[in-house]
Amino acid sequence: MVDRFIARFGEEKIALLHSKLSVGERYDEWKRIERKEAKIVIGARSAIFAPVKDLGIIIIDEEHDTSYKSDMTPKYNAKEIAYYLAKQNKIPLVLGSATPNVETYYKMQNSNGLITLKNRANNSKLPKVEVIDMKKELAFGNKSMLSLKLHEMIEQNIKNKKQTILFLNRRGYSTFVMCRDCGYTATCNKCNITLTYHRKENKLKCHYCGYERPNFTECPECKSHNIRYFGTGTQKLEEQINKIFPEAKTIRMDIDTVSRKNSYEDILNKFKNENIDILIGTQMVVKGHHFPNVTLVGVIAADSSMYMSDFRSNERTFQLLTQVAR
Ligand SMILES: [Zn+2]
Ligand SMILES: [Zn+2]
Repeated sequence: MVDRFIARFGEEKIALLHSKLSVGERYDEWKRIERKEAKIVIGARSAIFAPVKDLGIIIIDEEHDTSYKSDMTPKYNAKEIAYYLAKQNKIPLVLGSATPNVETYYKMQNSNGLITLKNRANNSKLPKVEVIDMKKELAFGNKSMLSLKLHEMIEQNIKNKKQTILFLNRRGYSTFVMCRDCGYTATCNKCNITLTYHRKENKLKCHYCGYERPNFTECPECKSHNIRYFGTGTQKLEEQINKIFPEAKTIRMDIDTVSRKNSYEDILNKFKNENIDILIGTQMVVKGHHFPNVTLVGVIAADSSMYMSDFRSNERTFQLLTQVAR
């Protein structure tokens, strides 16, 4: 986005605010805004506090994104602040999204504020989407995580040197660990959710608060060694894909691989330039990338996010799947 704005308006008119800037850099940007040198401020949620004089318009893109709400202190919702600022300054506020948040959509419908884009950019067509019932596949004896059709299409893609993206919204290896004898499941004491097994580090991790502990082979309750692993995360999916398609080159993108040595851009650039056949990832892979050589996107266990204990899980699932399909 920054590149586009610079190309259109020139670098000296743009100020950039985000958490990767050093304190000094942030100060400089802040001052440029205050002195009215920068006419356009682009930034993540905290940019809503930029000291813009004569504010003319606020635009929030991908407004359904939950990261506009900060749950660290000071807690705030950038969208609510934007509503307030727009009202105070009597200026327009534009909230943009292909999958708007339900409250926003409702509010805009009732205030005549809803503007619908009827055509897609460049009039491009939406891809063909096919839903495959894995229960039926199981009845035919297919115990794999891939449907027969997806399996076939990936094979075709590898042969034709086309690229594939596989999306699974769970990182880690197994999503829960249970004792088969007494039913004990490892959970996080603070968050009361099951811990996810990470195979490489042989650890159990809480994906909410970051708590981690070593994996166990003996049940802490009944001392049984009959410990089983259930559910599939991106680590296990990658392992299985490498087994099924040993000739294919794969790369994985989730918080675990991004925060370690490779950055987000590194992984995407590798995927683009280094003849990698399959990119496997969590929702990170969804965000509006354009890869001309990708002709197939597979969503594994597409309905799994509907069963999270969150009142928004249906809405989120819809948003996620719609964004994948675009
Ligand atoms: Zn036990
Ligand atoms: Zn936790």
